[in-house]
Amino acid sequence: MEAIRAPRGTRDVLGDESWKWAHVLKVCREVACDFGYSEALLPIFEHTELFSRGIGDTTDVVEKEMYTFTDRGDRSITLRPELTASMVRSYLEHDMRRLPQPVKLWGWGPMFRYERPQKGRYRQFQQVDFEILGASSALADIETIDTSMELYRRLGISNLQVLINSVGCPNCRPAYRAALKTFMESRLGEFCDTCQSRFERNPLRVLDCKKPGCRELSESAPLVVDSLCGECREHFDVVTSGLSEIGAEVRVDNRLVRGLDYYTKTAYEILAGELGSQNAVCGGGRYDNLAEAIGGPHVPGVGFASGIERIVLTMEGQGAHPGEAPRTDVYVVTASPDSHMAAASLLHEIRVSGISADMDYMNRAVKAQMKHASSIGAGLVCIIGDEETSSGTVGIKDMTSGVQESAPREEVLARLAAWRESRGTGR
Ligand SMILES: [Zn+2]
Ligand SMILES: [Zn+2]
Repeated sequence: MEAIRAPRGTRDVLGDESWKWAHVLKVCREVACDFGYSEALLPIFEHTELFSRGIGDTTDVVEKEMYTFTDRGDRSITLRPELTASMVRSYLEHDMRRLPQPVKLWGWGPMFRYERPQKGRYRQFQQVDFEILGASSALADIETIDTSMELYRRLGISNLQVLINSVGCPNCRPAYRAALKTFMESRLGEFCDTCQSRFERNPLRVLDCKKPGCRELSESAPLVVDSLCGECREHFDVVTSGLSEIGAEVRVDNRLVRGLDYYTKTAYEILAGELGSQNAVCGGGRYDNLAEAIGGPHVPGVGFASGIERIVLTMEGQGAHPGEAPRTDVYVVTASPDSHMAAASLLHEIRVSGISADMDYMNRAVKAQMKHASSIGAGLVCIIGDEETSSGTVGIKDMTSGVQESAPREEVLARLAAWRESRGTGR
């Protein structure tokens, strides 16, 4: 029988990498704290309706990419493809309108989309998500963008650029949609099949079609910023000037329409990487109509989501400091069968004192134990054998200098602590 493998589009994040993820989450948590977001840990599955109503059933996500199944209670359940709809659902369900507004939530975890797997894209992927709920002010938009920029800065990511657009609101979007349709109609046959099929239901998506032919055609399409109503125009101007105020590099990108229907006004992405070949590390924007779409009252909201895989790849690409890999400081070598218990007891004391340590359980010879200590990167080795047990001492070998000395048993912990101190804490 063939051994079972992980499903296509999933991956195991193991010890050589998981500490980088822990570092990203640690920095997220610090930024969340400094910017006043509280952590929300939400279920990874929700009622399918939440996404079909909250994301919009003309989107790729809902049309083609959701993991939807019927559970044993005959309910249609979907593994969440994103976090925003769940955040708003939670806000409504817990009546967070009674709290001082706005309510700022952040969360993280796996999302699920049935997409063609490719480099850096998985069917189960991890995102962090920050949302400000209850505020319609453009200042909240500026804050979420600032939050994401600060997150990347603290992670050591440089060359950040904000791409921004406004997708209007229910007052001004119909006119734009009509103008776009008029524009498309005359040359509809020249657009790709996907764009043609979206023509009726979601013509805005033609603007972010990646096919060269469509791109060329839409080059001369009317711009959404030219159709904004007064309120959307003013909102957009405040956001862009606010971003300049905080020193962000901003570029208006009229093609940025986002695949999700509930977005209103601000849509943005942050690019990072080598100038000229920057990749989006986050996408976000305002979604003032989402709460109503899922059956709640009007609750304006704005936020962003960022994939952890993409963040880690960007950090690696830029040579950013990835955090500290966990390491074992001390290895306890048992030099005789009779000294196992003495070694185990020393190991326990070292660990309790807050220094990471390990020992052999495989009955390796001393030489093989030393080799293992070196392979796991232990800085110091403590050696306990018959001789040390009878004289009440412990051999301590510095693996960097190779110097070995003997220390009275009762002084060992103090010596290890002094050594660690001199080496700097790295955990
Ligand atoms: Zn408008
Ligand atoms: Zn197209």
